Amino acid sequence: MAIKRRDLLQGSMGLAGFGMISMGGTASLLEASEAEKNMTTRRKVLTLAHLTDTHVQPEKDAQAGMAAALHHVQSHPAGVQLIITGGDNIMDAFGQTRERTAAQWKIWRETLAAECSLPVLNCIGNHDVWGWNRERSGVSPDEPGYGKRWAMDELGLSRPYYSVDQAGWHLIVLDSTQSDGGNDYKARLDEKQFEWLAEDLKRTPAQTPVLVLSHIPIFAACPFFDGDNEKSGDWVVPGAWMHLDARRLKDLFLKHPNVKVCLSGHIHLVDRVEYLGVTYCCNGAVSAGWWGGPYQEFQNGYGLVELFDDGTFSNQYVEYGWKAKA
Ligand SMILES: [Zn+2]
Repeated sequence: MAIKRRDLLQGSMGLAGFGMISMGGTASLLEASEAEKNMTTRRKVLTLAHLTDTHVQPEKDAQAGMAAALHHVQSHPAGVQLIITGGDNIMDAFGQTRERTAAQWKIWRETLAAECSLPVLNCIGNHDVWGWNRERSGVSPDEPGYGKRWAMDELGLSRPYYSVDQAGWHLIVLDSTQSDGGNDYKARLDEKQFEWLAEDLKRTPAQTPVLVLSHIPIFAACPFFDGDNEKSGDWVVPGAWMHLDARRLKDLFLKHPNVKVCLSGHIHLVDRVEYLGVTYCCNGAVSAGWWGGPYQEFQNGYGLVELFDDGTFSNQYVEYGWKAKA
């Protein structure tokens, strides 16, 4: 489901013709809060749905659940114009055979084709990467489709990370999953991707607001509540749960105050962290507890994100009412 930039730009609203309301003059306007000023002058330019951690699979009625989420998105009164997937689109390819991986991508592909008429921008999650756990998958790196190749083909990506301009915003999609050199992965950008990101931000005009999407949170609070690692006597957040290069990315974003919001998934929990001018939102999971019911306090849902022409945004977690099969 590759999306062409041309298609994306259709239906987007240009900034021309926008009449600014003068804020000068009266005492009441001067007393207006920042939020109120935003309400009166900003204009919504794009509404998108962030569907992360769908983990579709032949079992647990997951295909019907994915279809229900897509229907909910497309009938939402906010008028969603674009879907961004957050990765972990299928249950797991990381430690699976070719046959099992093919069965899951088939469901993904067919459900999206049948149930979704919106443009889709895709992101790769750790579970979309084929065979890296070679102990479990038994897959050799010379097999066609090994690693990210298969997911890129299914998701219509020529590169695992990229950026697009849309409705006056710059959208950056990152690839969080890097090999740990063994059978597992760590969350970070490799050197080449970091350099690309730094260049991409440098090229983006300072007045253009930026949204960053990654599968694994760059920075989040909810990883503290995933698992019960504090039983060790210390709070421990593993390097597969939050970006190990978060400090470096924070420093990079500081040089670019037009980076406004970073969206992620992976944890299946929902949070929002404000830090140094950037808002980090972890948007739960379409599959909640991997189609087995809620995960901790969080039901099956997706992020509804509204982008405004003044660089502000809103992010809300929307439950779509799915009940897990008993
Ligand atoms: Zn994940």
